[in-house]
Amino acid sequence: KKKVPDNYSKEAVPSYDWFQTDGSITVVIYTKQKDMNSELVIADLQERKLRGELIVKDYSYLLHLELSYAVHEDMIGLYYRKCRLLSKTNVSHDTQLFCLALPLGTHLLVPVGHHVYLRQTITGTEIVKPYTPVPSFLVSTFKNPCHDDQLHIFFIIKIYPSGLFTPVLDALQIGEYISVSNPEGNFMKSQMEDVEDLFLLAGGTGFTPMVKLLSCALTSSNNLRAVKFMFFNKTEDDILWRNQLEQLALNDARFEVQFVLSEPKKGWKGKEGKISSSLLSQFVKRSKCDSKVLICICGPPPFMEQGIQFLQDLGYSSKEIHCFTA
Ligand code: FAD
Ligand code: NAD
Repeated sequence: KKKVPDNYSKEAVPSYDWFQTDGSITVVIYTKQKDMNSELVIADLQERKLRGELIVKDYSYLLHLELSYAVHEDMIGLYYRKCRLLSKTNVSHDTQLFCLALPLGTHLLVPVGHHVYLRQTITGTEIVKPYTPVPSFLVSTFKNPCHDDQLHIFFIIKIYPSGLFTPVLDALQIGEYISVSNPEGNFMKSQMEDVEDLFLLAGGTGFTPMVKLLSCALTSSNNLRAVKFMFFNKTEDDILWRNQLEQLALNDARFEVQFVLSEPKKGWKGKEGKISSSLLSQFVKRSKCDSKVLICICGPPPFMEQGIQFLQDLGYSSKEIHCFTA
């Protein structure tokens, strides 16, 4: 810092986050300033040291990171292609289904459990964020396993009014373009082989990787006995694709869904609370003592951390737990 002002407030200090792919490391700095632009950020990468200087109003902040391995400029980054926005449909009060058209010459099928990056230039700076494509319907995909149409790619995306990326996505007009990367992810289809009991635990939009997983498991897993989905949301209005999930449960006896609300309104008769050991011990149970289980978990980071801890305490091994991350 250049100086410590009298009215110095810890809240004003930018925070940062990072994620990496095989080809790049992205450092995201949150400044809570609307008028940031690329001239206000200076970055130098020398060997393994990344030095970033950030100018916010009268102050400059220094970010100094030491990388585990040297990053070379010639590393091949993810390939992006521009996709046209065809439609946006409300899924809930703050979440939309985006349908993008892949370019005619593109063949891109995103593997189950994998995500892509969407890229936009926001006030002169390139920003990328990960999103997990979904089939356009839960139930119809299930009825028609010969796969999604290959011309479109769908996303369920929650818009955060004070977020960096999603308000710009929200403002994207039909016919405009957005860049979509190649897929990435650490889920392997082989993890589902011979699984007899599949448990899915999702918080909010952590639902998205579960959608394809669910239809894949129910259509192509031979030994599958049960798929149990526990879906954690704040209120009933936040539950994504509730009707489709309930319809699927009626259509397939192997599938069961339970909704758990952390901020239920009066009159909610279902389960309440956040992820806990007692909820999980009642829900995650082997259908026979030696059955092969896979437990998939996705949602806000504290939700995942707590969930994994509770599952480990209940005796499930790390091989039996898959956590979706970038
Ligand atoms: P951000 O700017 O990241 O902000 C999010 C929230 O945090 C806002 O409420 C904001 O006000 C608050 N916030 C921001 N900065 C601070 C700060 N410094 N202190 C306190 N609060 C702060 N999302 C989906 O909707 N659908 C998906 O399919 C999907 N798939 C994903 C797949 C992966 C592998 C991962 C890791 C994430 C996925 N996400 C998905 C989340 C997505 O990548 C973004 O994180 C999300 O869209 C929010 O982006 P944003 O830039 O709009 O919000
Ligand atoms: P949200 O804030 O609406 O919360 C949904 C539920 O998650 C809550 O009802 C609660 O049960 C639980 N939860 C939230 N905060 C918690 C905490 N601190 N401790 C314990 N439980 C908590 O969720 P949202 O806004 O829809 O956010 C979804 C999250 O999922 C985002 O962080 C997003 O990045 C992540 N996500 C990850 C992937 C992936 O593949 N890794 C995919 C999609 C979404």
